[in-house]
Amino acid sequence: MNTAPVVLVTGASRGIGRGVAVSLAEAGFSVAINYVRNREAADNVAAECRKIGKSDQQVFFPIQADIGQSVDRESLISLVLKRFGRIDALVNNAGIPPAQRVDIVEATEESFDEVIGVNLKGPYFLTQKVVQYWLKDKTEPAIPGGFKIVFITSISAETASTNRGEYCISKAGLSMVVKLYASRLADEGIQVYEVRPGIIDTDMTSGARGKYDPLIKQGLVPQRRWGTPDDVGKAVRSLLEGDLAYSTGCVIDVDGGFHISRL
Ligand code: NAP
Repeated sequence: MNTAPVVLVTGASRGIGRGVAVSLAEAGFSVAINYVRNREAADNVAAECRKIGKSDQQVFFPIQADIGQSVDRESLISLVLKRFGRIDALVNNAGIPPAQRVDIVEATEESFDEVIGVNLKGPYFLTQKVVQYWLKDKTEPAIPGGFKIVFITSISAETASTNRGEYCISKAGLSMVVKLYASRLADEGIQVYEVRPGIIDTDMTSGARGKYDPLIKQGLVPQRRWGTPDDVGKAVRSLLEGDLAYSTGCVIDVDGGFHISRL
């Protein structure tokens, strides 16, 4: 059984999740690489992690599960425990945009249910399962400073986009989930963080390149560039390495300064 600290990263086959998995591999963690459809991409991430891992105690396996489905969340935890023997941290990253951007005056209940199911209900209840395992199992954490949970939210937690209301609501709700779990788990020695990315260059944003390129150049993002999965990965890595020992329930903005109100 491996002894490197084990991190479950949801949606780690592409984009930000991939960036997180690779940063963690570089830092000596084992990573359970969750994906929903894209097995080949997940295998590639596992291979890349193995190449850059720092010790032979680290292991990397893809694990299929739809975090929007209760039975899949259950099987995801059992499979991680079976293959890795433990869980030391959870990174709730998997998320989806609405299939189509539609004005809230017209948007459908089906789209609302789908986005909320994956982006909000999924991580809320997946976290509950992992926490139940930690509280029941009482094993010593192999990670500096105790077990940790990171939620990847979005600038959409606070920025209103009226043509994807369900996405904004899912991320605003997730931001409250961070506060709830952070309050509940502080006494248990478990830290909970919100990482809030801005406009990041991934498959999710590829269709909006034409819209964002000029806006970013004009200063919508004070640092005047797109964010990368690596930017987010390094932020998560720093949290899991225990660098923010006296912080919990806080927001880490990884957005090039987008969140600053300016006049
Ligand atoms: P992406 O490139 O579309 O990748 C999405 C990842 O999530 C893939 O690995 C996908 O797996 C997985 N996934 C999707 N639905 C899933 C489900 N039901 N169960 C399990 N895994 C699922 O997205 P991204 O841009 O990296 O976004 C990652 C997270 O960051 C999301 O929560 C998103 O809301 C958030 N975020 C993104 C941006 C941005 O600008 N890109 C900004 C702020 C926040 P498959 O490969 O198997 O499909």
